[in-house]
Amino acid sequence: MASLILLLAIGLGVTSSAIGNTDPYEAARQRMVERDLRGRDITDPWVLAAMARVPRHRFVDPSLGPLAYGDFPLPIAGGQTISQPYIVALMTQWAEIQAGQKVLEVGTGSGYQAAVLACLTDQVYSIELIPELAQDAAARLARLGYSQVRVRSGDGYQGWPEQAPFDAILVTAAAPEIPPALKNQLREGGRLIMPLKTFGGFQTLIRLTRQGNRFITEEICAVRFVPLVKPDPKKSKIGQRP
Ligand code: SAH
Repeated sequence: MASLILLLAIGLGVTSSAIGNTDPYEAARQRMVERDLRGRDITDPWVLAAMARVPRHRFVDPSLGPLAYGDFPLPIAGGQTISQPYIVALMTQWAEIQAGQKVLEVGTGSGYQAAVLACLTDQVYSIELIPELAQDAAARLARLGYSQVRVRSGDGYQGWPEQAPFDAILVTAAAPEIPPALKNQLREGGRLIMPLKTFGGFQTLIRLTRQGNRFITEEICAVRFVPLVKPDPKKSKIGQRP
């Protein structure tokens, strides 16, 4: 019976999206990869493949679905934002992640960046300060098949010491300096990518590479991220919004 309906649907020229099989945003996503990523300086085939695969529209409010593949950031819950796809791809490319390497993300937000990382390695850890966002992102990631990503609610300034060292750390919120705990949790040769606040509200995306006791800094480009919030140590419930 099901195959009869399918044959009928095909005969009538009903597209598979109309019968619920395909992703209605597939074409928009491929266009985004060509125009905004490959059209700029994203060249790593694994990063391009990850960006072509992860359904960004499932990480934003359904009403924003039609905008999900635009070349701009989008609002998510808790007054936070999900970065422009190009910036997600750029940070991932600079992290130079090999399969099996251990990656920490600070600032889970919607879980989108974590899902992109999960296409490159099965060792993804992500920390989010706002407990509701952490919970929602963990549930969303599991629902979409990225259940290997481990999400926890807490203060990213402290990193995830029980899982250190990491081959790569991506911080998706801006701070005036690199949190010392994150530097300490980098493996030898490890890379930390994060937006650093400079002056007058400007931010620069940087990469820090650990070489023995030395850290090499490279500047990538100017960016704009939400702040990495320092929770008040006097408050007993770390991460709760006021
Ligand atoms: N990477 C996310 C977007 C991040 S927005 C995505 O792909 O959707 C930045 C996130 O950092 C916000 O969710 C914010 O709540 C979180 N954040 C801010 N300060 C933090 C801290 N100290 N520790 C952990 N997360 C923090």
